[in-house]
Amino acid sequence: ENSETLLEVNNIEVIYNHVILVLKGVSLSVPKGGIIALLGGNGAGKTTTLKAISNLLASERGAVTKGSITYRGARVADLNPAALVKRGVIQVMEGRHCFEHLTVEENLMTGAYTRGDGSAAIKADLEMVYGYFPRLRERRRSQAGYTSGGEQQMIAIGRALMSRPETILLDEPSMGLAPQLVEQIFEIVKAVNEGEGVTFLLAEQNTNVALRFAHYGYILESGRVVMDGPAAALRENPDVKEFYLGMS
Ligand code: ATP
Repeated sequence: ENSETLLEVNNIEVIYNHVILVLKGVSLSVPKGGIIALLGGNGAGKTTTLKAISNLLASERGAVTKGSITYRGARVADLNPAALVKRGVIQVMEGRHCFEHLTVEENLMTGAYTRGDGSAAIKADLEMVYGYFPRLRERRRSQAGYTSGGEQQMIAIGRALMSRPETILLDEPSMGLAPQLVEQIFEIVKAVNEGEGVTFLLAEQNTNVALRFAHYGYILESGRVVMDGPAAALRENPDVKEFYLGMS
């Protein structure tokens, strides 16, 4: 049985400042219900790929100059982030970016702003988020600026969930977190994937953890996909072991 493809990135090229070619023909495909990992070292082009999808390159003087990006078969190149959220796609940016002066709960509520439905549904979704992140319930009255890095990552994902997305683009969830917390965040991603059916495309330098939780991976090097396959196969691949998993 073929699962439905949600997101299709087809041979895109991205150029910054009119001259710096950063993505040199990247293709990938994200099936409904998948956890797909975009792997590779610093500067390989993971963030750029996510920003190309969510149309966030313009503010960095970047542009997609070749190829196409479709979501459910429709081109998304001209959609601003709010319009993309309406289609069901939301990006959680690297570095988390919560509103430091708002409480944890207020931060979560900002994620529901594009929705037209009533407050009862929003209240129910807040409960849904607290179900996955019990820690955020405990901290709900705290000012977000005083929460830990792990809690801020939870806020960022929780806020994204408040828009009831079909797909979350998650940039480097492990960044700056202790191994134990990284594990915890990935456990929650998996639980949300299984429990809510949310599809994830996640960029991650931590190949080891990403390949334990993802179903499928793409490895980027210098703006090209150099390898892709089911996560289990990548974990066993000798080159992946040597260059990305730190063992041979
Ligand atoms: P990281 O883990 O550091 O985010 P990455 O794989 O996500 O790495 P990108 O951030 O996509 O990589 O960067 C890819 C390349 O594009 C790098 O060489 C980077 O220096 C370059 N780059 C990123 N943003 C810009 C920009 N605004 N202008 C020019 N070059 C940029």
